[in-house]
Amino acid sequence: MKLEISEIIHRVGQQATVPITMPCPAEADFTCQGPVSGTLTLTNTGRHLLVRGDLAATVQVECSRCLKEVLVPVSARIEEEFPLPTFDARGVPHWEIEGEPVSTILEGYHLDVGELARQHLSLAVPTAPVCDAACQGICPGCGKNLNEGPCTCPPPEIDERLAGLKALLDESEE
Ligand SMILES: [Zn+2]
Ligand SMILES: [Zn+2]
Repeated sequence: MKLEISEIIHRVGQQATVPITMPCPAEADFTCQGPVSGTLTLTNTGRHLLVRGDLAATVQVECSRCLKEVLVPVSARIEEEFPLPTFDARGVPHWEIEGEPVSTILEGYHLDVGELARQHLSLAVPTAPVCDAACQGICPGCGKNLNEGPCTCPPPEIDERLAGLKALLDESEE
């Protein structure tokens, strides 16, 4: 989704509040369930376009313990400034500063809200999500999902010799 911003760009102090509803950004490293939504307020501060607001989505991730798919709400508070183009004597905007593009998000009268959402929401996706705080995970021995019941693997053995060594160490500490 790209917002047309030519009006804001040409008038210092101009502001617009825009409701956002769009599909998941195509390049994202996460998958959304439903749209990305929120509100952005754009302000021309003279030298910058100030973008403030909130974006939210529900993303599909794998439980870090049992790998089941879970839906997690994520949201991001946006507060970012993008340099505005410079205008020459004839009022023609220049989108490059010393040969570098002003921004990949703000380019040629368009604000790339999809890219803005991709960058901010990917940081909000939890790195170790769980389907449930009590998730039992997967047995490292047989691979069974332990939420569906116990497996038949033997319980981890306590090595008798190590137990004896521990007792000795405990004694020597006294
Ligand atoms: Zn789980
Ligand atoms: Zn097992």
